[in-house]
Amino acid sequence: MFSWCSYCQKYLGEFAPYDQHNISHGICKQCHDGKVVFNREKIQKSKEIAVLFAQMGEAVKKKDFAFIKTQYEKLIALSVSNSDIFSGIYQPLLYEIGKLWENREVTVAEEHEVTSTIEALVDLGFKGIPNVENLRNSSKPMVMISSTSQNQHILGLRLIEHWLCEKGIENRIIVPGMPEDEFLSLAQKLKPPVVGLSVALPTPEVKRTLTKLVQQARGARVIIGGRFIREYMPNDLPAGITLCNNILDLSDVLIQSKLLAS
Ligand SMILES: [Zn+2]
Repeated sequence: MFSWCSYCQKYLGEFAPYDQHNISHGICKQCHDGKVVFNREKIQKSKEIAVLFAQMGEAVKKKDFAFIKTQYEKLIALSVSNSDIFSGIYQPLLYEIGKLWENREVTVAEEHEVTSTIEALVDLGFKGIPNVENLRNSSKPMVMISSTSQNQHILGLRLIEHWLCEKGIENRIIVPGMPEDEFLSLAQKLKPPVVGLSVALPTPEVKRTLTKLVQQARGARVIIGGRFIREYMPNDLPAGITLCNNILDLSDVLIQSKLLAS
């Protein structure tokens, strides 16, 4: 379930039940604290976002993947930010296509078509960020996250990279992943205050890498994330590691590390 603010069309996050990929409406803190008054135009916009979202979900089910491409401009016209589009709309679409693939309702080629369509839209989104070339692939990153070699779902990390750039946070997102010893020595060299892995499954190797990261981190926050992590790893984290299920969890880590204003 993906929640959006009814008033400012901001994406609020993902909530249980996690296997249902639809939109619900709530109110964000800013709008609540600002004691918003009822505004017909904003409520109408929220409805339009929900309609577009439902149409895109239907298009994926009907394998009309070209439809997704044509909706980006409409979302921008509704004043939805890029990062909200990516986290609140594209990400659920990716979950949906992943689920269809698991149920053998789409082929690998069809899944790749959706993924590459969304990748192209995300690339388009990067171009609009000021100073983006200094924020991405930084040599002094505040946040460094690598995918593991088993994790083929790298688009989620691209969405995070985009979100970090939009927030003006220097980052180093590593996809596809690199061998464990290279990753550990790069982390030691760059000393990012927040460092972690995006994983498909919490294998013993993943846990060993995370434990080594904590040992060499000297106060840095070590995080783990990935689409399936919440299903496999709720109470089984090595000491000193924070589970980040989504961008809101990552946002909390960055606020606690004083890298992002609350
Ligand atoms: Zn709001």
